[in-house]
This record gives sequence, C-alpha cells and structure tokens, in this order.
Amino acid sequence: MRANDSAEKPSRRHAMQTGAGLVAAPVLLATSFPVVAQYKNGGAAGEAKATTLQDPRNLYPKPPFKRQPQEPPGLASKMDPRPDHGEKSYKGSGRLAGRRALITGGDSGIGRAAAIAFAREGADVAIGYLPVEESDAKEVIELIRAEGRKALALPGDIRDEAFCRKLVETAVQGLGGLDILVNNAGKQVAQPSIADITTEQFDATFKTNVYAMFWITKAALQHLPAGAAIINTASIQAYEPSPNLLDYAQTKACIVNFTKSLAKQLAEKGIRVNAVAPGPFWTPLQPSGGQPQESLETFGAKSPLGRPGQPAEIAPTYVLLASSEASYVTGEVFGNTGGTSPF
Ligand code: NAD
Ligand code: MG
Repeated sequence: MRANDSAEKPSRRHAMQTGAGLVAAPVLLATSFPVVAQYKNGGAAGEAKATTLQDPRNLYPKPPFKRQPQEPPGLASKMDPRPDHGEKSYKGSGRLAGRRALITGGDSGIGRAAAIAFAREGADVAIGYLPVEESDAKEVIELIRAEGRKALALPGDIRDEAFCRKLVETAVQGLGGLDILVNNAGKQVAQPSIADITTEQFDATFKTNVYAMFWITKAALQHLPAGAAIINTASIQAYEPSPNLLDYAQTKACIVNFTKSLAKQLAEKGIRVNAVAPGPFWTPLQPSGGQPQESLETFGAKSPLGRPGQPAEIAPTYVLLASSEASYVTGEVFGNTGGTSPF
C-alpha cells in the first residue's frame, strides 16, 4: 500500500464508518480541494491518480492578519489575503449534472464557493446578493458561465418579503425550475454589550438571517420536486455563542431549529433539509463588522488547526448535501469548524 493510499476517497469511506451528521465535521474537512482533484481523473478505483497528502495546518494563510475595515456587507475583492473560493482549484465530476440551484449571498465567501462548485458539478446557478456587491457577483457569474452553465444574477434586499418572493420566481423562470435552495445570506455585527445592540440592528439581523430564510423557503416550496435539497448556513455560534454576537448567534440557533423541524415536515414530499455549521471562515462578513478589527488580526488562531477556513474548504459539504449521494441525510447539521466543533 502506498503511503498516500489512505488519502483516497476519505469522505465516502469515513462517512460509512461514522454515519452522516454531527460527527462528520472532521471528515468533511478532509474533502477540501486537494482531495476533490482525484475525481477529475475518472473516479473509478484504480484509475484515479494518487494525490499528494497535504497538512491541513499549512494549506492556507494563518494569523496574524492585517486590520482591514470595510463597510458592510464588504467585498471579497478588497480582502487581504484574497479568500480562496475554489476559483482555480475546485474540480467537478458531474455530481449535480442538470440541477438548478438558487444560492443567497452567492457573490462572495461561502456562497460563492458553493456556486463555483455547483457549476463545476454541472448545475445551473442563480445567485442572490445586495446591489452594492455587483462587482463580486460579476466575477461569480463569469466563472459559472465559463463552465458552460446558466448563471443568473439576482440583486436585491432579502429583508423585504416581496423581494424574496420575486427572487424565487425569477430564479425559477430563468432556470426552468428549482432543485436546490441554499439559504446562505447572512448579517453579523459584533457589539460588546446588549446595550449596544439597537432595535434596528436586532431587526436587520433577524430579517436577513431568519425571516428571509422563512420567506424564500416558503416561496421555493411550490417549485421544489421530490429529490430536491434545501441547505441552510447556520454556524458554530448556534451552539457556542460569543458574548459579542448576541443577536447573530440567536439567529443561527433559529436556523438549526428551523432545519430540523422542516426536515421532518418535508420528508413526506421527498425533500431533504440540512444545515452547515461553519467555524471561522475568511470572508467579507468578518472585516465588515462581523468582528472587531483587533479580533480580525488573530482570526482563526484559536482553532486547533491554527487558522481560519477558506470558503473553498467548505464547498464540498454543500455539494454532498445537494447531491443524491446524501439521499439518507436530512435534518442534520454538518460542522466544518477546523476542530472547534462543540458537537
Ligand atoms: P459573505 O459576506 O461573503 O456572505 C454573506 C452574504 O450575505 C453577502 O455576500 C450578501 O450578499 C448577503 N446578504 C447580507 N445581507 C443581505 C441582504 N439584506 N439582502 C441580500 N443579501 C444579503 O460572508 P460568509 O461568511 O460567506 O457568509 C455566508 C454565511 O455563512 C452567512 O450566513 C454567515 O452567517 C455564515 N457563517 C459565516 C462564518 C464565517 O466565519 N465567515 C461562520 C459561520 C457562519
Ligand atoms: Mg458579499
């Protein structure tokens, strides 16, 4: 047995051993892009080229990072270092061929990484985002089209119920249907004390993270067929709330609860509903108010792997949950936390 044989197809083998769900967190980290590269080479056992084992601690930038304040929602293009969304690395293998996906917050960060991966797996993709993020969104649209897939750019504010309905209808019309919904857009504003959280902030955080998920999912349900998948982006904050993320952490607990309840409700329609719970990821959410600037300097340092995750490292989790490979997985929360998982 070659030394790196153990790196081959770790996600499938380990998923079988451990069962899917909460315990899958460290397993899923192993599916980051260097391993995904093997599927390009045919997939069948024996055909795949050996991949080089990579130490996850050294794969990506580590703290200290520069302070780099941006106005919310922030742009990926202004981050230093630039996040890796899998632009150059993600290799698909037709796992979502012919699927039609709507991803909110698909312009940057985790949503962008999912959009790139979905397109490379053969899906047509619509992305929602705020109008001020047009330049980030344009890059994603170009990347999806470069795969020969249909790409829809749907700017607008999901704090508005009417826009949420329009977002879904436009995506359905433009894609010719909908099979995958990723509720990923999010708002996070750190405040040292409850006294600093205005009613306006509390309301905006809940509207973006909770109400919009409810409105968009409700509108999408009229179109989702049996076999469709809903994936909600929760957070480690749902389980281990930071003192300065009081409002945000509550919304993430809501998302976990919504996911579990809806999964039970929609099982009879053959629709699966799961959530992903990221730990610290290097995205515009953080420098644009999600963290105080002094915390950004050490962002991810407390993770046992010693660094934040890059969006490219979480995209395979979304692909798995969207694909029929996860046909027996519903109502689960998949951690992707670099070892900080509280589960
Ligand atoms: P991001 O800033 O790249 O993505 C968030 C997106 O939300 C923005 O790009 C924006 O398009 C969208 N958005 C925000 N307000 C909106 C509004 N009113 N209308 C329409 N769209 C709106 O950052 P990200 O970290 O990739 O965030 C994606 C998800 O991941 C969020 O739900 C976030 O809470 C979650 N998350 C992130 C981290 C992390 O460390 N980055 C950790 C746990 C969970
Ligand atoms: Mg953005």
